Amino acid sequence: MEDNVRVLIEQEKLEKKIHGLAAQISNDYQGRKLHLICILKGSVFFTCELAKYITIPVTIDFMEVSSYGDGATSNGFIKVRKDTDESIEGKDVLLVEDIVDTGYTLSFLLDLMKERKPSSLKICTLLDKPERRETEVEVDYKGFEIPDEFVVGYGLDYSQKYRNLPYIGVIDIKED
Ligand code: 5GP
Repeated sequence: MEDNVRVLIEQEKLEKKIHGLAAQISNDYQGRKLHLICILKGSVFFTCELAKYITIPVTIDFMEVSSYGDGATSNGFIKVRKDTDESIEGKDVLLVEDIVDTGYTLSFLLDLMKERKPSSLKICTLLDKPERRETEVEVDYKGFEIPDEFVVGYGLDYSQKYRNLPYIGVIDIKED
């Protein structure tokens, strides 16, 4: 049976916000180069849109992590499925995440990345669910705060589906 998806953030609103973040980032890093690390797979759409509108020189790498949670949430036990290709030592690094939920994924990534001696390390997330936070994470650039609902679209999936929706939607899951 088809799941119902209700629009939470329209494409136009999303892209306007992302372009604003890109302008802010370009301004903050003026005269420098920025190394973006896209956290697969959910952040792909966000990273592409962001990178297109950043006006300083940018390089992009990819990393994939997975948690041992129940699938919808993480529990703090995170493993690297795909590591970055390039060293980050001495680089200005911006981790690009789709959503911060409990905060475990980003705390893990921050600890890991700090050991690799970047020149600077910041976080940019499209979405934030502050109500769900279980561990403190300082987010430097944030698109939208959203309520505690399971969202899909713009890269975010439910069982690998719905990533291609051009908006963020709340899914009402129908069991078969
Ligand atoms: P955290 O470690 O902060 O709990 O979880 C971050 C990861 O959980 C995200 O990168 C994302 O993969 C997944 N996640 C958390 N909330 C949602 C949600 O509402 N929808 C989807 N599709 N994934 C989510």
